[in-house]
Amino acid sequence: MRYDFHAHTHFSDGMLSPEELVERAVEKNVELLAISDHDSISGIPQARDYAKNLKSDIVLLDAIELSAQSDFGEIHIVGLAIDITNCQLLKSIENQQQKRWRRVKVFEQKFQKLGVQGVFEELEKSCKQVVTRSHVARALVKLGYAKDNNQAFKKYIGKKGRVKAPTEWITMLDAINLIHSAGGIAILAHPTRYPMSNRRLGYLIEEFEIAGGDAIEMAYPSLSPDKKAWLEVQRKQNNLMASGGSDFHYPNLKWSDLGRFPAIDSDTPHVLKKIDIDAWR
Ligand code: AMP
Ligand code: MN
Ligand code: MN
Ligand code: MN
Repeated sequence: MRYDFHAHTHFSDGMLSPEELVERAVEKNVELLAISDHDSISGIPQARDYAKNLKSDIVLLDAIELSAQSDFGEIHIVGLAIDITNCQLLKSIENQQQKRWRRVKVFEQKFQKLGVQGVFEELEKSCKQVVTRSHVARALVKLGYAKDNNQAFKKYIGKKGRVKAPTEWITMLDAINLIHSAGGIAILAHPTRYPMSNRRLGYLIEEFEIAGGDAIEMAYPSLSPDKKAWLEVQRKQNNLMASGGSDFHYPNLKWSDLGRFPAIDSDTPHVLKKIDIDAWR
């Protein structure tokens, strides 16, 4: 079954509306799609309404990508197959979204000191709901302070950039518990993309499992075969399931289109096996 358990809409830092995302997933023959916006579930009802009226049998799973604080730095946790009406979840989402707006206000103060003008106004115009560093990067490009998003991250808001705003996200443990209380599966997103050594990543994966985490992403566009083999060792050691997704944000990135990522071996315990697909139809 062609699935994709990690994708974004314009409610966070994706470029497509929920309707356009579903449309594209159908075009790409994705049969099972989880919309996992950063700290938001707002695109899901729209996507669902749209999918209902399509001729396709695409099945949508409700999901989210939470930013969380671990002992090893900031991480992303996908909550898959969650109940998006869960009160605790909704309250935490609101909290995370407020933290994001506070963070960009700190960015703005620091930009002012560097003579970088107009970013906040741009964010207020361009941001639909959840404000992310992708929005900040796009604003910096639009205002001529960087030639592309990559440079905006390098120069300003990336790990080694000049503009920092420490944010106290929900903790890894609380995020996992929250996902569980909303009936979902907690998945450590794109493990090899965090800026840390393999040794620390190994510890992170161990801590994730100890905190109750269920799975790790073992298939996503930038994952090399070597890294995948290394991750498989960690996955096995920690008894975690595997998940996969494109982390789709916008169409012109050919290498991360919907449904496009390396396959997970069929004998690997997969989150797919935990999901009652008929219940989501
Ligand atoms: P935030 O959750 O607000 O910290 O924003 C993180 C998002 O920024 C990620 O989900 C990526 O989509 C994007 N991102 C992170 N690093 C880079 C980078 N170096 N270049 C382009 N986009 C990036
Ligand atoms: Mn993103
Ligand atoms: Mn992520
Ligand atoms: Mn993502």
